Amino acid sequence: SSVSQRSIPMREFKKSSKLDNVLYDVRGPVADEAARMESEGLRILKLNIGNPAPFGFRTPDEVVTDMRQQLPECEGYSDSRGLFSARKAIMQYAQLKGLPNVGMDDIYTGNGVSELIQLCMNALLDTGDEILIPSPDYPLWTACATLAGGTPVHYICDEEAEWNPDLADLESKVTSATKAIVIINPNNPTGAVYPREVLEQIVEIARKHQLMIFSDEIYDRLCMDGIEHVSIASLAPDLPCVTFSGLSKSHMIAGYRIGWMILSGNKRCMRDFVLGVNMLSNMRLCSNVPAQSIVQTALGGHQSVKGYVAPGGRVYEQRNYVYEALNAIPGITAVKPKAAFYIFPKMDVERFNITDDEQFALDLLHEKRILITRGGGFNWGKPDHFRIVYLPRMGILREALDDLADFFEHYRQN
Ligand code: PLP
Repeated sequence: SSVSQRSIPMREFKKSSKLDNVLYDVRGPVADEAARMESEGLRILKLNIGNPAPFGFRTPDEVVTDMRQQLPECEGYSDSRGLFSARKAIMQYAQLKGLPNVGMDDIYTGNGVSELIQLCMNALLDTGDEILIPSPDYPLWTACATLAGGTPVHYICDEEAEWNPDLADLESKVTSATKAIVIINPNNPTGAVYPREVLEQIVEIARKHQLMIFSDEIYDRLCMDGIEHVSIASLAPDLPCVTFSGLSKSHMIAGYRIGWMILSGNKRCMRDFVLGVNMLSNMRLCSNVPAQSIVQTALGGHQSVKGYVAPGGRVYEQRNYVYEALNAIPGITAVKPKAAFYIFPKMDVERFNITDDEQFALDLLHEKRILITRGGGFNWGKPDHFRIVYLPRMGILREALDDLADFFEHYRQN
């Protein structure tokens, strides 16, 4: 007779212990609670994810037209690094940014920068290897370094100095186990753009301690106030550098999944690392080919998306509004972002009695139905910050900021 299905208890499937210290809170427990509330029919204002399309930002028509036309030719896998046309356009972009010593084989496309961050961390890090990552950071860097078995070591970015990296803190954290330094420039979550002098000093530290440089520049075409973005790799022809960018943010097509990385500078010392990168790149076969097919068109002319960050453009005007409205709330201060679409305000934790930023985020969600991301989600060590995505239209932002002011007027004060 057959064994009753009920008589053998199925064993429990535990997640891998590799994930024990991995944190990715942008879509974490508070976002889950928001989803639960939505499923009950409540309307939640989501200021938590940097995804432009739902807020009415559109890619230029020519990009969509181009993809539509090319789709029939995109049925097969491409070369593992990517289509020639895409890499040729990225090559020209690398030249415009002054990246030294870049050949076609130094360019890899990915399913977003996300895939390439994970690929690089896996290719580089052994157990015990340290990598310097900013705090606050875009948390994927810390998560991927941890998952790869490395040890992320956080250096502080200084709010008092426009959120630039604290170079003394950075250098003090270098050890004999340090392999690389990550910078995120322009920065998520702070909106900082690092001046040339700061970048030069980071290069100096990397040179002195023989570190690889990873620079996440996905927001480089979203700088405001006439600031010119400088790629750190352009200042480091003698060092091993990997520069990351893509179209998710600059062209408002985060859903298409297309990003790239460019190896530059001293490639001799990266030879073995590159073998690892090539193996991992081959293992994933290639990135999404229809999305690769539009890179040339997208990079060839992005005037219309540039308009969003110029005076009068939506991102620019919304940044100005949110910056002023936040600073008008007693107990809240925020540094003005120079790029991207995030702001990382500080709360007076004594005034509001805040000791746990996740609880704060839940309280705000329950009371005002506003979803933000707590500072801790960006590997920020204190419970005194949160991140707002200022992509929603002005009318919605006004409503949100009024609600936020009202919330802080009462929150935990007697
Ligand atoms: N790097 C930073 C700093 C980001 O903010 C993001 C997305 O928010 C990414 C990388 C991932 O972008 P992609 O869509 O190219 O995977």
